[in-house]
Amino acid sequence: MSAYQAHHFNAGGFPMPWLRNGIGLLAFAFSLLRFCGDAALGRIEKGNARRRSRSEIRSVTKNMISIRMASGPTQHILTWNSVMKILLAGPRGFCAGVNMAIETLEMAIRLYGTPIYVFHEIVHNKHVVERFVREGAVFVDTVEEVPHGAVLLFSAHGVAPQVRTVAAQRQLRAIDATCPLVTKVHLEAIKYAKAGYSIVLIGHEGHDEVIGTMGQAPDAFTLVDNTEEVDSLTFLSTDKLAYLTQTTLSVDDASRIITRLKERFPHIVGPPKDDICYATQNRQEAVRLLSADADLVIVVGSRNSSNSQRLAELACERGIPSHLIDGAGEIDPTWFAGDETVVITAGASAPESVVQDCVEWLKLRYNATVEERTIREENVYFPLPKELRAAASVQLPMA
Ligand code: SF4
Repeated sequence: MSAYQAHHFNAGGFPMPWLRNGIGLLAFAFSLLRFCGDAALGRIEKGNARRRSRSEIRSVTKNMISIRMASGPTQHILTWNSVMKILLAGPRGFCAGVNMAIETLEMAIRLYGTPIYVFHEIVHNKHVVERFVREGAVFVDTVEEVPHGAVLLFSAHGVAPQVRTVAAQRQLRAIDATCPLVTKVHLEAIKYAKAGYSIVLIGHEGHDEVIGTMGQAPDAFTLVDNTEEVDSLTFLSTDKLAYLTQTTLSVDDASRIITRLKERFPHIVGPPKDDICYATQNRQEAVRLLSADADLVIVVGSRNSSNSQRLAELACERGIPSHLIDGAGEIDPTWFAGDETVVITAGASAPESVVQDCVEWLKLRYNATVEERTIREENVYFPLPKELRAAASVQLPMA
């Protein structure tokens, strides 16, 4: 490959061959001017370009010139061989709980047809939710919205017993796609509450999982989100006290909060291991390790995905710029000079197809190379809910 190289893209990312020669010459001219100094290029050529074509240079970086054309979209021109490197973090994306919830909804649609009702988003991801809306799923926030006798699926985040009671009263056919690791926390809550403990739940207010967990024993729970809230707790040394955690917390934050709880209430009890799930821990560990080699971290996931947010925060805390995006359409070229090492990871509810869209976006614009960096293999599988397996064995012929 020659030392000089010019590629250009329209806003949608598709090469425009009839423009290539003209823009290539323009890029060559800019590249020569680079030898006269970046400052001169920025000042002189920017003015010249405006006079010549009424196009406007938006930005000039070491490897790319972005030009807003007089008519048409902004063109991004690579002026030198790009050396961008993508480190694809592993594990990333779907966890066993999300896989199970998605397969449950797919199977339920096959068995019962549509419309089929889902209490809250099946998983916290825009693409997954939009796909199922197209296929006939109806997402509801209250059981009262579901017609009598309809099929209602509980999402991976779990629900309070009160929701199950109302569903039964409305004679709904309920299918429970709660992740077993969330159910484990529910069972711990019930055990502690029955034994007379007050329970401090470490979690984020308003999250579906937190609402479902606190609903297991509403009178027993106090929610805390940080060490300051621990400091304001007023339990006595004689109170029976336990703690539990949301499954998708930052490992570091949870550890700090648990340490503070134990300092203030040495008699507090908790699960042998905190409740942060394997998928959350593995994805965070991958970002922690790989960000040491990164200039920038891209986290694929929706903004209401707790574990995706934690991944983006983790990179930021380590001083690495990070961006949480729902897809390639949200990538901003101003984030890059073109020679970065970019870690790409994905929250536990983000589809791999969206990750690959982002990889292609960077490859197309920056000739990025891709390296898979898997820090741990995951082989976790959760079976479909038993009520669905039973229905499937009756209604679906064996393969
Ligand atoms: S992130 Fe963890 S707790 Fe949540 S669905 Fe996945 S495996 Fe289950």
